[in-house]
Amino acid sequence: MSKSKQFVVGVLAVWFGFVAQVMAGTEEKPKANWTSGDEPCAKYDSLRRPVLGEIGVKIDASEPWAEAFRRALSFWNTVLVANFHEETNLNACAVRIINGGPGILNNAIVARSQLTEWDNFRGKIAVSPGAATAMSSDELYGAAVHELGHILGLKHNASSRSVMYFLNVNGTEVLDSKDILDLSSHHKLCANSGQVAQTSVRVPPLHQAERDQ
Ligand SMILES: [Zn+2]
Repeated sequence: MSKSKQFVVGVLAVWFGFVAQVMAGTEEKPKANWTSGDEPCAKYDSLRRPVLGEIGVKIDASEPWAEAFRRALSFWNTVLVANFHEETNLNACAVRIINGGPGILNNAIVARSQLTEWDNFRGKIAVSPGAATAMSSDELYGAAVHELGHILGLKHNASSRSVMYFLNVNGTEVLDSKDILDLSSHHKLCANSGQVAQTSVRVPPLHQAERDQ
């Protein structure tokens, strides 16, 4: 074997060794969710069900976040075969929405959801009461739809038109075809939202009367 061939083989061996190490590393260490001392809802594992059915949500976040989440629950009920409803009993709820402290949130984050596929999932969403003072009701509503999207298994979408865009949303975004397909791999959708998999589901803007409240 010529010297240059030996060199190439040597480089390839090092490269494959490196790739194998990186892949083994990612398999060994699944990502972990943030944690908090707040007692979780007993039924958080219900969020992994393909047919979600009854999903109780305990809203302990302060206003105006609480109202934004109430509206967002109604939106998700139009998309999924699910009945999201407010539930105050910790033994009966699946999602708990809490005011987040600095240990969970920092100045750059207005809200943060736990993700089902990461370790320590307990069905929690934390919001920043401070950030809410600088946000419109449309932005709060968009953020609530976005965070519930995460807890339903959705990842970020690079399209700025999607409600799952990774920067702040302003309440005029949609669930686009990528979001709908992604969602359908986790949960059963309402018949009408399944049919529009090639288009997008509009996140309905707030009615004028609601804006004025
Ligand atoms: Zn997000």
